[in-house]
Amino acid sequence: MKSTSHHDRRDENVPSAALLLLVGGERVAGGGAPLEVEDPFSATTLTRLPVADDAQVDAAVAAARAAARAWGQTPAAERGAMLHELARRLRARTDDIARVMTLEGGKPFVENRDELRQAAGTLDYFAELGRSSAGRVVPPVEPTQLSLVVREPIGVVACITPWNFPVLLLIWKLAPALAAGNTLVCKPSELTPLSTLMLAECVEHLPAGVVNFVAGAGDVGQALVDDERVDCVAFTGSIETGRKVAAGCATRLARVNLELGGKDPFIVCSDMSAELDVVARAGAWTAYFNAGQVCSGAERFYVPADLHDEFVERLVARSDELVIGDPLEATTDVGPLISRAQREKVIIQLEQAVAAGAQILSGGSIPEGAGAGHFLSPTVVSLAPLATPLLDHETFGPVAPVVRVRGLDHAIEQANSTSYGLGCSVFTRDIRNIVRCIRELRTGMIWFNDPLTENDASPFGGVKQSGLGRELGEEGLAAFQETKRVHIESHLGVKDWWFPYGGG
Ligand code: NAD
Repeated sequence: MKSTSHHDRRDENVPSAALLLLVGGERVAGGGAPLEVEDPFSATTLTRLPVADDAQVDAAVAAARAAARAWGQTPAAERGAMLHELARRLRARTDDIARVMTLEGGKPFVENRDELRQAAGTLDYFAELGRSSAGRVVPPVEPTQLSLVVREPIGVVACITPWNFPVLLLIWKLAPALAAGNTLVCKPSELTPLSTLMLAECVEHLPAGVVNFVAGAGDVGQALVDDERVDCVAFTGSIETGRKVAAGCATRLARVNLELGGKDPFIVCSDMSAELDVVARAGAWTAYFNAGQVCSGAERFYVPADLHDEFVERLVARSDELVIGDPLEATTDVGPLISRAQREKVIIQLEQAVAAGAQILSGGSIPEGAGAGHFLSPTVVSLAPLATPLLDHETFGPVAPVVRVRGLDHAIEQANSTSYGLGCSVFTRDIRNIVRCIRELRTGMIWFNDPLTENDASPFGGVKQSGLGRELGEEGLAAFQETKRVHIESHLGVKDWWFPYGGG
């Protein structure tokens, strides 16, 4: 492990745009108690953000409600043009926003800049898709009739997001929801609210009330979930909170989309013996990207017995050469974890695995020289297939547990053995393995030979407890549309199946 030098960041100010809410088109200071936003690199307070008070949350929902009719009736091409403009503004602000994302989230600047570029691309994708998906025409019952399936906005959508990809995961909701004609109230994570509030400057060209930003913790999220005027809740976060959101929506039968946790497997097939260097590099990247705090990052590796030792050796070498340190440095590969509590959770999982017989082959400790922040060294663990949280609960840290398996049957059985079902990465060139994995893996996504690559046109989401619904692609737009069935008879006349049944 190498470490980078530290930027002195205390002289850098958080821009004022990051400290104001957006309610009904007005930038306003939160009326609630100040929230301490931490810089996870230095483990010191970055800034204090006054959060939204009850009246501001209420006003944000009221503004979204008031704007819903006109926005829903705005021609789709006009809405699309405004989304393209939002993408342009986001690209113009990329470096400023990425810097604040780095300060509040600890994710390397390079990864944050990439997140924003990807978010701008998603806006462009839905700007176009929204123009061409107003429904369909289906064959009618009689030739004198027309049968239409009309897609309409749902109304007011609450977007509740986590801290690990604060902008991208919001844009995966905002772009399709706006393209479909809905209005929004967005609530970022209390750990990373600043970058989302900066987006308020990129939506100034939209009519007032179409997008509103509030800030606060779970109580603000819960207030949105419980608000009768909110027609749909789009949520990304933990399974535990997802259950509360689903329960709140169930009480009043509101629409809900849930993107929840993952425990993604990474399967190496036996035909990879000559390619283990590529496989180990891919493995290190998907396990340690954003310090392992990625819902679809690999969290358990299944490797056939004959390749296990060489794979582990290569993975350890890749782990040890990573540069850990200040996420603002362009050469830093791995930054701190989001919080002390998150690091503690990962360390406890490692201790439990060791107590059950696992061996830590690299890392597993708090690195020296990286700074006072919430760092944990990239960690390779070797263990048998056993019931331990490191193998069957989400970890969300820079840890690569490697399990020796007998072959693909055993790997698939293990991969399917948890209550998660987000994604899975598989390395093979053998078409027979590919077809088997597609048929047998119980996940919402599979990446062959290229982990974590996203595609705006391809739906993202999980099965089992990893979520309900999909983001991105046509499915991601449909998630924000209601369906209205329309039947039109062009020949007015009495039907012979109407009353009276006795004839007449
Ligand atoms: P979290 O569940 O703690 O918080 C997510 C959001 O919910 C935050 O904005 C939080 O303030 C809000 N919230 C908390 N309590 C609430 C309540 N009662 N009602 C409404 N909102 C409430 O999750 P987190 O720690 O911020 O994020 C990490 C989790 O997100 C991980 O489990 C990760 O796997 C998951 N995640 C999933 C995906 C995906 O697409 N499947 C992507 C990224 C992250």
